Amino acid sequence: MTSPRRHRRPTPTHHRCPGACARMVPNHHFACDDCWKRLPREIRRSLVVHRRGGQTGPGRDQVENAAGQWFLDNPPPVPVPGPP
Ligand SMILES: [Zn+2]
Repeated sequence: MTSPRRHRRPTPTHHRCPGACARMVPNHHFACDDCWKRLPREIRRSLVVHRRGGQTGPGRDQVENAAGQWFLDNPPPVPVPGPP
């Protein structure tokens, strides 16, 4: 066991959320809750179908790439810094 506090790095059980929020999410989730909710329903539906049972393959890659591209095209709302 090494340092247990590496929350920001991919691990065997977690990966970085593709939604550019820098959160780490468990591998059985594609994205964190906030980013997941931002995805269009049809993309979420495809992800659920293709990731069911932990299956892998070109279909899943295609869907995940499409979702990743959607996040690139639709960046998260950036909070406007207020006065100190
Ligand atoms: Zn996220």
